[in-house]
Amino acid sequence: MSWGYGKDNGPDTWSKTFKVAAGSKQSPIDIKTHDATFDPNLASKPLVIQYHPEKEVGIFNIGWTFRADMKEKSTLEGGPLDSVYRLEQFHGHWGSGADHGSEHLVDGKSFSGEIHYVHWNQNKYKSYAEAADKDDGLVIIAVFLKVGKENAGFKVVTENIEKIKLKDTSTLVKVDCHPDCLLPNDRSKYWTYPGSLTTPPCHESVTWIVFQEAVEVSEQQIAALRGLSSDKSNVVPLVTNHRPPVPVGSRAVRASFK
Ligand SMILES: [Zn+2]
Repeated sequence: MSWGYGKDNGPDTWSKTFKVAAGSKQSPIDIKTHDATFDPNLASKPLVIQYHPEKEVGIFNIGWTFRADMKEKSTLEGGPLDSVYRLEQFHGHWGSGADHGSEHLVDGKSFSGEIHYVHWNQNKYKSYAEAADKDDGLVIIAVFLKVGKENAGFKVVTENIEKIKLKDTSTLVKVDCHPDCLLPNDRSKYWTYPGSLTTPPCHESVTWIVFQEAVEVSEQQIAALRGLSSDKSNVVPLVTNHRPPVPVGSRAVRASFK
């Protein structure tokens, strides 16, 4: 059986196959805001997010989420980063109801979902594949989703989700995609810590940047995501795909704001 989010193949079982899933630098975590240390260096060196529109976008059902692949040279630098990181793809996590679904928590609170923008270190490596298991290989921006008004930019994914209902299917959407559509307005307030991919192979190669401000999407848009199937014959719907938080341990969580 391959890994998933069910009783027999869920997060508690991943470390049997992927040893590092039981490691000390795993993700996600519950961010305790009072334990996060304000770092004035983060405040004085803003994140520089240069995401470029895509003329068309491939979206894929990879069995545990949708994934939108980026071809333009969108980049992320500044803040806690010493290198320039290239945007590879974005994907999402959600739950069976609006009261849960995010992977990271804030003081124990879940959000309705979480978008992950995955970047790789283009100064040191030649590709995502090469960077994925390196200590300084990846940066993931996490954006919390809350139910509210429809997100027009996200319709690129949610209005085409029917076309990728089954695992291993994909579609090329020939409309402009603005990958920044799911970034919050306030990009100055975030937490950062060293962690891992939240899915197997769970490499401990990720600098996390978790924005404080959540972004609104409509109930219908989240419901559309739950319509994906985790298999090739629509047996198991993908109603939930979030890993529960793991211990922070001795890691420092830094905040860019007081
Ligand atoms: Zn993710």
